[in-house]
Amino acid sequence: MNIVSIPALTDNYIWLLHDDHASALIVDPSASAPVETVLTTLGLRLKAILITHHHLDHTAGAKALRDRLDVPVYAPQDRRIEAATHRVTNGDELYFVAPAVKFRVLAVPGHTLSHVAYAGEGLLFCGDTLFSLGCGRLFEGSPEQMLASLDRLAALPDATQVCCAHEYTAANARFAALVTPENTALALRTRQVAALRAAGKPTLPVLLAGEKATNPFLRVDHTEVIDWCARQGVATESRTVRFAALRKAKDVFS
Ligand code: ZN
Ligand code: FE
Repeated sequence: MNIVSIPALTDNYIWLLHDDHASALIVDPSASAPVETVLTTLGLRLKAILITHHHLDHTAGAKALRDRLDVPVYAPQDRRIEAATHRVTNGDELYFVAPAVKFRVLAVPGHTLSHVAYAGEGLLFCGDTLFSLGCGRLFEGSPEQMLASLDRLAALPDATQVCCAHEYTAANARFAALVTPENTALALRTRQVAALRAAGKPTLPVLLAGEKATNPFLRVDHTEVIDWCARQGVATESRTVRFAALRKAKDVFS
C-alpha cells in the first residue's frame, strides 16, 4: 500500500492511499483540483472518500469528486456533511475491495462533536484531533472529551503511522519546547522537522511511538507536564485540568 500526502489550501494535507493496481482512496478532500491532478499524474482510479469531520477544509472537494468520479463518501453522522453517501459510527469496520484495506471507525469528539478517526493498515487518519506535537482546538467538545479521544488514539499500536490533516508541526514544536524544555526526544524531533521543512518536505506521517515521547498533549501524566502546570499555578491533581491548561495556553500562544 502506498501513502501520499497531497498539500492543499494553506497547510492542509489530503491523504491518498493506493495499491499497485491503480486503486485509490482519499481522506478529507479540502479541494478537488489537487486530488484530480494527483490521480491523473499517478494514473489512479478513485474508489472512495473518507471524511473525519464537517469543517470545510476537510470536505469542500468531496461533492465535486463524488459527482465527477461516482465514488462513495463515508462520513460521520452530521447533517453538516452534505456530500456523504454512507454514514459511519464508532466501532464500524469499513472493508474496501480495491484497494484491499480495512479501517475501524473511532469516535473522537473534541475538536468537533461528530469527529471520527479511521484506523487500519498501520495507519491512522485523525483529521484535526491529533497533530504532530499538538492537538486540535476545542471548537465543540470539552477538555474531558478531547482527552478521552487522545487516550483512544494513544492506545493504538506504537508502530501506527499518524496521518494528521495539517502541517502544524513546526509551530507546535515551539509551544512544546516551552512546556517540556528538557525533553531530548522533542529537541531531536524539532531539528528533524526544521530540516524537513527547509527541504520543502512534509513532517508527516509520524510514528505514534514518537508522538507519545514528544507531544505534550499525550504526556499529561508525565512529570514534565505536571511540573509545567505547577509553574503556571495550575492545580496539578486532575489530568483533565492539566490537559485543559495546556490547551488554553496553546490557544493564546498561536
Ligand atoms: Zn477542523
Ligand atoms: Fe482542519
